[in-house]
Amino acid sequence: MIVVLLGLIGAGKGTQAKMLVESNDFLHISTGDMFRDAVKNQTDLGKIVEGYMNDGALVPDEITIKMLLERLASSQSSNDLLLDGFPRTTAQCDALDNALVTNNLEIDCALNIDVDENILLDRIAKRASIENRQDDDPEIAKQRLENQRTTLQEVANYYDQKNKLLKVDGLGSVEEVHQRVLSVLEKKGS
Ligand code: ADP
Repeated sequence: MIVVLLGLIGAGKGTQAKMLVESNDFLHISTGDMFRDAVKNQTDLGKIVEGYMNDGALVPDEITIKMLLERLASSQSSNDLLLDGFPRTTAQCDALDNALVTNNLEIDCALNIDVDENILLDRIAKRASIENRQDDDPEIAKQRLENQRTTLQEVANYYDQKNKLLKVDGLGSVEEVHQRVLSVLEKKGS
């Protein structure tokens, strides 16, 4: 099964991804984690993407798509796949679909974890103080939220038109949301 996790920053994508990896043995691919690793290790890629990330901007499609497709190509095709933070633009959606089609694969569903934006800003502020993520600084976080609102809607529409969009209420405890995610996936036939 190939699942795309959607949600604004702070919606709990990363946390839910981790829980799904534990409960259902998904292979988790997070473009945010990959970029953060690259920046931490100051690789060529890291030096290029650092500025975008610190500005709360999206890394250009060309760079992001290339990195993701290379990662997909090197992963075991037998695994269930959980994509977290990708796709974020319709160009990324198209590139992913095209790459999957050549391997006779397709996205099974896109899970949109839905949380009210005021609650998100609160959560992000808390995360900033705990994890010390530079891009969680309140001003940058606001910028990311602004940037993400439109693009998330475009990506959600993309999957909605293909009848693949499933909404999950992201309010409540981590465990409650996890149970909702599981029940949605079960209905979908994981
Ligand atoms: P969040 O969902 O909290 O913004 P992520 O960890 O998914 O955090 O991403 C962190 C940053 O990495 C983004 O702000 C962006 O700069 C970059 N990034 C991650 N995924 C993508 C993507 N699919 N396309 C473009 N940029 C991305």
